[in-house]
Amino acid sequence: MTAPRPTAPAGTGTPARTRNPRTRIAGLAAVLALAPIGVAATATADPQTTPNGPWSGENGSNLAAIHSYDQLWSTLERIEQRAQGSFELDSAPLRSNTGREIPVVTIGDGPTPVMYIANQHGNEFVVSEAMINLIRSISGNSSTAQAIREQLTVTVVPRVNVDGFDADVTDASGATTPWRQNYDPSCTEAPCDPFYAIGRGYDTNRYHSYSDSAYDHPYLPGDDDLNPVPEAVAMRLLWDERRPELVIDFHHQGSYVDEDGRLITGSTMWPNATAEAERLGIADEFADTITRSQRAVSVMLTELDQYGYANITRYPNTSTPGIARNAYGLLGSASVLFEMRGGIDAKSNGYIAKTAEVAGMAVLEAVADGSWETTSLEPVENIRERGPFVSDPHE
Ligand SMILES: [Zn+2]
Repeated sequence: MTAPRPTAPAGTGTPARTRNPRTRIAGLAAVLALAPIGVAATATADPQTTPNGPWSGENGSNLAAIHSYDQLWSTLERIEQRAQGSFELDSAPLRSNTGREIPVVTIGDGPTPVMYIANQHGNEFVVSEAMINLIRSISGNSSTAQAIREQLTVTVVPRVNVDGFDADVTDASGATTPWRQNYDPSCTEAPCDPFYAIGRGYDTNRYHSYSDSAYDHPYLPGDDDLNPVPEAVAMRLLWDERRPELVIDFHHQGSYVDEDGRLITGSTMWPNATAEAERLGIADEFADTITRSQRAVSVMLTELDQYGYANITRYPNTSTPGIARNAYGLLGSASVLFEMRGGIDAKSNGYIAKTAEVAGMAVLEAVADGSWETTSLEPVENIRERGPFVSDPHE
């Protein structure tokens, strides 16, 4: 099933997609069916994919089970038409570099804002399917969905890096999407900016501004408006607009095992840019933010403990302040990274997507009913470290 994938040349600023709610694409019914989620990604040589790679099983037909750019939009439009209660489908404040709009769904109109973002790394895309399912759930008729919509205003960005997932572009070495970075081939020779893949683009999840301006470049001293990553700026602009109490950022990692040799299905982490918080003079506030973030993690861990297939560990410390987990934590939101296992076969991916959806739902419920505030931190205190990397057993 192939959907049209209109793109415009980079830098033209031409919108590649004009939203039209009446547009329907062929095969939509098949897209809407809860098809098993396949996975594939290009195995490009890219030192920045650690610890996400290596990915296995490049296979176009598996990748076709993931919503393409246009299928994502049309599926969200279809959900919008059936949605109960408050539901808005919009575009993020900025477009990608190929001119594509990034879908943003806002559900509910309650007093507490929450923001979920996913697929910042283009080759970590099964979580975008989990977000579609979550959007469908909380816009439905269940009493849980109604309670969430009453108490919360939930912003979901199911696929931040629309270009890194499936823009019809090649990088300087001839590689095609999906890949980790956004699409911005402007630097062809070192030195380039930090966290940049030459001739391809930026690591979106290193460019979230945590200073006063959403447009600030996190790696240039002082205030400026030189942030080169529109996808990251767009998320910060949304944050400015909505001031979420809690942000969760969904990713994939490779396959790891725990100390008993069991496969780890996910890893999670709270903000830890304590040195930067110290430098900014907000150490006390940040300590409180860490605790609130850990409460959200505890809710997830407690919920997932009921599922035999979930085996969650702590994600290794990365204190880079410009990653979403730290940037939004420094700005005062409780902030959580959730990394699902990736690079596996279609059947396992069904469980993986379900795990992300279940974890995301559990937190929404706990924030909506207030139990989040008093939940025990014991699951976080007992969380195990992520074990060693293992290669894909299905290869
Ligand atoms: Zn990632």
